[in-house]
Amino acid sequence: MSIKSSNNQSAELDAETHEIEDVALDTNLRPQALEEYIGQQEVKDNLNILLQAAKQRGEKVEHMLFYGPPGLGKTTLANIVAREMNSQIKITSGPAIERAGDLAALLTNLNAGDVLFIDEIHRLNKVVEEVLYPAMEDFALDIVLGKGPGARSIRMELPKFTLIGATTRVGMLSAPLRDRFGAIFRLEYYSTEELKKIIARNAKILGAKMENGAIDELAMRCRFTPRIANRLLKRVRDFSQVHGHDTITQKAANGALELLKVDHLGLDKNDLRILEALITKFKGQPVGLATLAASTGEEEDTITDIHEPFLLRLGLINKTPRGRQATEMAYKHLGLTPPKTTQQTII
Ligand code: ADP
Repeated sequence: MSIKSSNNQSAELDAETHEIEDVALDTNLRPQALEEYIGQQEVKDNLNILLQAAKQRGEKVEHMLFYGPPGLGKTTLANIVAREMNSQIKITSGPAIERAGDLAALLTNLNAGDVLFIDEIHRLNKVVEEVLYPAMEDFALDIVLGKGPGARSIRMELPKFTLIGATTRVGMLSAPLRDRFGAIFRLEYYSTEELKKIIARNAKILGAKMENGAIDELAMRCRFTPRIANRLLKRVRDFSQVHGHDTITQKAANGALELLKVDHLGLDKNDLRILEALITKFKGQPVGLATLAASTGEEEDTITDIHEPFLLRLGLINKTPRGRQATEMAYKHLGLTPPKTTQQTII
């Protein structure tokens, strides 16, 4: 899933380049089975039961929804579910299904047991969503023939498929859609220990030798996100190779990350711009999303999906009823003295 930065053209190009790299890299590094999937233990435990039960009954597995910030492994899990159930997966996304007919075409082409994966499912439009309700609940497609008073509806049976939805915004899903999922899983940011394991595993797949210190460095600076860990790993490997090292040292990892402008907590220049705006432009007062987006040149979606959850997790911002506010830690991170009067309301 990609959310492009809208700062300027070069940022967009940069994001696109990252995306192309990601696709190539992802195919190699994506875990293929639940045992290879590191972390998210609670999700895995529940998923295991769901899969086992469906297999024992010889039924298709329940419709399920994965939600959480981008890059945490939602698509990976959908692929694993399909593989565990020995079924085919068809991948699409909310914005790609523009009309009811597009969805009807997708659904009628499924075979029994297939997985239909809809990424960014919160972006499905209302008309399409309504086609999905009977499809999920009754495995039926209602087709309206004709127009006006003479119009009649016929019901077409669909194969029993599994819908897997993924979203970064579970709150934007309508209640009727959310209620039709048999299981809803929230993906959490990864711990540093889990990320170390992911990085070590992926370095091995890429044939890169790494010092433990270099693994630690990446694990601490990848925004608790495997996709970013993978991307940084590749950059660090390039840096190390160009500098003539056959093992990635901690020093080389540091050098590469410095060049990429990723600071010691994993903040990039856009995170820093947000913190600076909160602290200097708005003098530490709570700031609404639209104002923050306008003043930093970021899209609102990018702030809410990418920056905000990460800054909240690090404790650098708080969300108050009146908006986002920099915490004392944010001041210190920027080398500034926090004002004595700052009121921090945590909700
Ligand atoms: P999302 O769909 O949530 O945006 P993806 O499933 O595309 O995220 O994951 C991005 C990449 O991160 C994958 O290609 C995979 O290499 C890596 N990844 C995600 N979760 C894990 C995990 N639990 N263990 C190892 N690698 C992971």
